[in-house]
Amino acid sequence: MKSFRKELWFETRNRREYINITPDIEKALTESGIKEGIALINAMHITSSVFINDDETGLHKDFELWLEKLAPEKPYNQYHHNGFEDNADAHLKRQIMGREVCVAITNGKLDFGPWEQIFYGEFDGKRKKRVLIKIVGE
Ligand code: ZN
Repeated sequence: MKSFRKELWFETRNRREYINITPDIEKALTESGIKEGIALINAMHITSSVFINDDETGLHKDFELWLEKLAPEKPYNQYHHNGFEDNADAHLKRQIMGREVCVAITNGKLDFGPWEQIFYGEFDGKRKKRVLIKIVGE
């Protein structure tokens, strides 16, 4: 069995952003040479997510509004976590959007359903953060 590991680095300009990382995962898959197996892609931080959904800007605005209703960024002092930090909302948003995705690899391709794309969801950006790609198979 082969095993391949790679990190993707991000430094977003905004506090919250959604980035389609599907091309980066496809590139990593090509680099790995693995044709049959599993790819795990996870955020390595507790205030960002990796998730699968549609690459549609209206939906991404809906995510933003929905997450702000569930866990509004402000006022900062509404959260117990915000003693020395201001990112409690980002921890909560990440929790609901998830830490990782796992995708089957078949014939050297990501075995997606229709419209599935992989996103990095940043909820406390403007600093360096990373995503881990681990691919195993043969
Ligand atoms: Zn925190």
